Amino acid sequence: MSQNAIKRLYLMQVGSMPEYQIPIVCYLVQTNDGKNILIDTGLPAVIPEEGSDFENGQDMIAQLASIGLTPDDIDTVISTHYDIDHAGRHAAFTKAQYVVQRVHHADAATNPRFAANRPQWDQPMERIRLVDGDVELLPGLELIETSGHVPGHQSVLVRLPNTGTVLLPIDAVPFSAGFTRDLQDDGSNPDAQAIHVSTVKLLDRVEREQIGLVIFGHDAEQWQGLKTLPEFYD
Ligand SMILES: [Zn+2]
Repeated sequence: MSQNAIKRLYLMQVGSMPEYQIPIVCYLVQTNDGKNILIDTGLPAVIPEEGSDFENGQDMIAQLASIGLTPDDIDTVISTHYDIDHAGRHAAFTKAQYVVQRVHHADAATNPRFAANRPQWDQPMERIRLVDGDVELLPGLELIETSGHVPGHQSVLVRLPNTGTVLLPIDAVPFSAGFTRDLQDDGSNPDAQAIHVSTVKLLDRVEREQIGLVIFGHDAEQWQGLKTLPEFYD
């Protein structure tokens, strides 16, 4: 069995949706060999018209600086999807390789939903690593394809030495109330079936591996009880 490469997981809140008090968050993973891996980059510094529901909070570059990191220290950006509250700062990480599902990157090219944020995610292809489905990026760091919220959305699983395994569903399951095997389909969402399939996929992982910590993508109530940067999970 390969050695777990992961040392720490930091949680950062970088903004909010004030109307619903929803936190906008991203994550930093540090490896034993000194690599810094961001999971999403939060909101853009200047929020465009399309994102007027969002409000910037503590600047994410400043938060990284508070633990001694500059954007150039980021080796990898795991991009869960290109929505403006998850990929708003991609362009700041000029030394990083971006890791995204091939299906998502292809969809974003023509999907108007991602047009406003295109200057952030549309980076030179030699700096984008396209992946297909579930992938072990490093020992202890896995990407789990969870389409539904958008095509080719990915969730992330992090194995920590003391905390154990942590699942980050991101927007596959934004709120704890949605982490259920019940199909939540009132007919209003054409993607309800795909969301359901991805939710069940993650529930199966949690049960099979007895995962103790699932951090939902935008759950204000849960977020208040979590350790955030400069604290970390190890
Ligand atoms: Zn989101």
